[in-house]
Amino acid sequence: MSREELAVQRARKAFQTGKSKPLEYRVHQLKNLHRFITERHKDIAEAVKKDLYKSEHGTELFETLGLEGEINLAVERLAEWAAPRPVEKNLLTILDEVYIQPEPLGVVLIIGAWNYPWAVTLQPLVGAIAAGNAAVIKPSEVSPHSAKVMELLPLYLDKDLYPVVNGGVSETQELLMQRFDHIFYTGSGTVGRLVMEAAARHLTPVTLELGGKSPCYIDRNCDLAVACRRITWGKFVNCGQTCIAPDYILCEPSVQSRVVEEIRNSIKEFYTDDPKTFEDYGRIVNKRHFKRVMSLMEGSLIAVGGDSDEFQCYIAPTVLKDVTGESKVMQEEIFGPVLPIITVSGVDEAIQFINEREKPLVLYVFSPDNKLIRRVIAETSSGALLANDCLVHFTISALPFGGVGNSGMGRYHGQHSFDQLSHMRGCLIKKLNMEGVNTMRYPPHTAKKLGWARFFLLKQVNVGRLRRMAMLAMFAALTAFVVQVKELSQEVLAVRQTGGSRQ
Ligand code: NAD
Repeated sequence: MSREELAVQRARKAFQTGKSKPLEYRVHQLKNLHRFITERHKDIAEAVKKDLYKSEHGTELFETLGLEGEINLAVERLAEWAAPRPVEKNLLTILDEVYIQPEPLGVVLIIGAWNYPWAVTLQPLVGAIAAGNAAVIKPSEVSPHSAKVMELLPLYLDKDLYPVVNGGVSETQELLMQRFDHIFYTGSGTVGRLVMEAAARHLTPVTLELGGKSPCYIDRNCDLAVACRRITWGKFVNCGQTCIAPDYILCEPSVQSRVVEEIRNSIKEFYTDDPKTFEDYGRIVNKRHFKRVMSLMEGSLIAVGGDSDEFQCYIAPTVLKDVTGESKVMQEEIFGPVLPIITVSGVDEAIQFINEREKPLVLYVFSPDNKLIRRVIAETSSGALLANDCLVHFTISALPFGGVGNSGMGRYHGQHSFDQLSHMRGCLIKKLNMEGVNTMRYPPHTAKKLGWARFFLLKQVNVGRLRRMAMLAMFAALTAFVVQVKELSQEVLAVRQTGGSRQ
């Protein structure tokens, strides 16, 4: 039996004991995960520095802070998320208990990516633990130092329920041969397709957190200095290796040179005149990706940056201008520090350009005009839409994070992670009395019975509204009762007074 098969079997066996189900157990594991992140933060920071040349503060800001927030939220809200969720009833079931019971799915496979090796691997794990599942964790081999530190997880978490399996493509393929109850994959669409094919063999549901080209439309009427500053931050953080980074800019020709100048200024402000020696500017993860990103620039006009160092996998923050939809850089997700600008005649052409391509993970729009923003929302589709800023929607746990169409399927963060990795079981608990009501569904099926069935089944009962109406009725009855008592006591008083005056 292979190492991968063994890990899955042990996780399944441990899940079947039922130990991952009690809420106290889940909370305990989540707190241990939190302890792992805080106690091992030095190891984590060093690993990320080696993998992606990220600074210690950068790692805390972009990797572990969000993770801590997700864990705290899950610990605080778990009882609420896991509780039965009452639903509307029809008249036929008015006296019954009808609710949705979230329950664990079983064993989840989490396949992480390398660009934020901690955030994208352990955030799904928070959801898996909170939902009461076992989880096999497969970190990306492209960020090997982080993957190695992740092997310490079993020192903190139940080692059978949450094994870490390291390895490359063949190990992932071996894992994908096994039967899981859910697969949560983060990475490219190419591998996403392979994951879905493998999952189909076992009818396993999947969440695919993919990428793609996220457009960024800049309205000429906006404050270009502020817009470009925010775009520069969102694009060049982690050396452009962010799935939700703006991939390319769309703007009118009249503002293109201002956009170039403002981005140039912001690059200088953030990373100095020499980003190569600046500690908060990262590196491309490996030579393969370095060569891929460099080749994407072929045939385009460099307006800012462009210099590189293959030995260090360094590519300067780069802006390309007068790019067209046919340019090489527009044929795939860039996933590097290269920002092309494509000019369009206005918002109409921008919307058309976006809609002619695959649905992106995020759509960015910068404009002071609320109507224009609403129009872009109404006339396009994307995993998320963010107006007048970059990346920060990722920090809101209440927003579902995920793609649509080519950018992925499924969603997570906060309660969405819990829901995504739970089975929403419909429960109806009837009593054995009131059998008379059921005669309408038993043969023979007459027109009269059908009439009754229509009445009972088509009337939805909004339990909340019913409760509010009952409260109102009680309040009205109570008020009437108080008024009556008041009137009565006044009458008694009057009788007493007249009686008294007679004496
Ligand atoms: P990657 O190369 O690290 O691959 C991810 C996983 O797939 C790894 O565990 C790897 O072992 C496995 N894998 C690779 N080839 C395989 C094969 N042939 N068969 C089976 N498994 C295989 O990650 P990547 O694909 O380079 O990641 C970059 C992509 O991820 C970008 O497109 C980016 O936009 C996307 N991404 C998306 C999100 C998100 O949240 N939506 C987050 C991060 C990255």
